[in-house]
Amino acid sequence: MPKSRTELTAIWPPTADVAREAGHAPQSPLQAIRTKCFDCAGYQVSEIRRCEATGCALWPFRAGEHPWWGEGKKTSQTLADSERETASESDGGAA
Ligand code: SF4
Repeated sequence: MPKSRTELTAIWPPTADVAREAGHAPQSPLQAIRTKCFDCAGYQVSEIRRCEATGCALWPFRAGEHPWWGEGKKTSQTLADSERETASESDGGAA
């Protein structure tokens, strides 16, 4: 018997099996962002391109490309650096 939405949502974080059971096919985060932008923009590529919602967290990624790749650091390293900096700031800078 298939799980209800509530049962699927209760599994945190979602596993691949849960995602599949919820109807999702495997995809990259960039593909997921692009799909969300298509949904938001009425499936019009031109509207995604013209989107002026610069405060939207997805806005830099709406072309399906990662704007920070190629700047010398991979984003995962940038995020890790940011987390270290945040931890350092919260403990008074002793690191
Ligand atoms: S970037 Fe624009 S098109 Fe994409 S989800 Fe945000 S508001 Fe919608």
